[in-house]
Amino acid sequence: MRAEPVALSQQGSVVALAVDIPRIPDGGLPLDVEVGAEELRLPQAAEVTFPIPVRILGRLTRVAEQVYFQGAISGTMSAPCSRCVESAAHDFEVETQVMFLPPSAADPHEDAEAVGLEDESDIYVHDGMKLDLAPPVYDQVVLAFPVQPLCRPDCAGLCQICGGNLNEASCACRTESGDPRFTLLKNLSFSKPL
Ligand SMILES: [Zn+2]
Ligand SMILES: [Zn+2]
Repeated sequence: MRAEPVALSQQGSVVALAVDIPRIPDGGLPLDVEVGAEELRLPQAAEVTFPIPVRILGRLTRVAEQVYFQGAISGTMSAPCSRCVESAAHDFEVETQVMFLPPSAADPHEDAEAVGLEDESDIYVHDGMKLDLAPPVYDQVVLAFPVQPLCRPDCAGLCQICGGNLNEASCACRTESGDPRFTLLKNLSFSKPL
């Protein structure tokens, strides 16, 4: 059973991830926003979809000209199972901390070290008035892509001979003896003349 993904383009609500920096108060600006994959310009191939909006929950803090975002990015992506190719939902939640530097920052790497950020990839640049949370959110979501999506940890995959989904039913091929590769060759040469 698979749920039909919500058509993100039909949701109608556009939530800008651009934040006016002067509007960030001294105590920080709490954020709790949901954005569709299209607004994030996520790579939506036909086989990878985001059935629900991506949620960004956290806080922006301004220190002089630097702005920090600390929080969590969560959502669900749906991708074909790497064994049986059935659609597999994958929930993700990443804790993240990124820094936005002013355009005048001379050496982003040095600034990152100064505040204890080890990874230069967590550094973005704002334009002095606005910052855009979309790039870091995009980067975090792409990093959350599973390398080998599985519909379930013990997915039995497809039969290498008949292509049947072994999660649904075992097929006759499994009871045959011998190396399945030879059975495949045999089937090809006798039952499917070229
Ligand atoms: Zn599977
Ligand atoms: Zn089979």
